[in-house]
Amino acid sequence: MKILIVEDEKDIADPLKRSLGKQSFAVDVAYDGKAALEFIRKNGYDCILLDLNLPEVDGIKVSQIIRQEKNTTPVIMLTARSQIYDKLKGFDAGADDYVTKPFDLSELIARINTVIKRNSLNKLNSLKFDKFELFPDKNMIVRSIKGKSSEEIELSNKETGVLEYLLRNKGKIISTEELLEHVWDSEIDLFTDTLKTHIKTLRKKIDPDKKIITTIRGKGYCIN
Ligand code: CA
Repeated sequence: MKILIVEDEKDIADPLKRSLGKQSFAVDVAYDGKAALEFIRKNGYDCILLDLNLPEVDGIKVSQIIRQEKNTTPVIMLTARSQIYDKLKGFDAGADDYVTKPFDLSELIARINTVIKRNSLNKLNSLKFDKFELFPDKNMIVRSIKGKSSEEIELSNKETGVLEYLLRNKGKIISTEELLEHVWDSEIDLFTDTLKTHIKTLRKKIDPDKKIITTIRGKGYCIN
């Protein structure tokens, strides 16, 4: 497994590189955002550990840029900040998980393994529903239109995660808590409104009449 650490504080980056190296990860280090983008464009990584406050290009911007470039490598934000605002910004910019410094190494490794595993599962299959096909690894839906060529619809990471989880549990009512837990991972209690927002944007893209994703009042969501 190949990991990129993006961290300008050498006192954190270098020992972390050594520790992860001992766990048989192959590790590169970028000390600023610009170097990080060059590394990411040149090499394929299984996971990116991304500091928020960085010289040249900050962590939020780095994450936004790589997602715009259709790179779906899992990103774990490393930061000293613990404000809700920053976390939401991180997730909106495409981060998969969040670890607040100072972090426990074994916990960080567990998080790395979780996001890597989920990402590789995502890549396995497309999922068909209604007149759509979801490609989780590409954050994309293809809509087939009778007698016409098909249309591609782009999704955000989290929209993809929510839709994929509902589709893999077709016919079951999935609670807000369960969705947050599976799609967001950490410190989930803060983000119930975020889920609502993502359901709303998803519906706008594929389900304006609310026929695909059903809201079960007080219980959660369901796709039949
Ligand atoms: Ca920093």
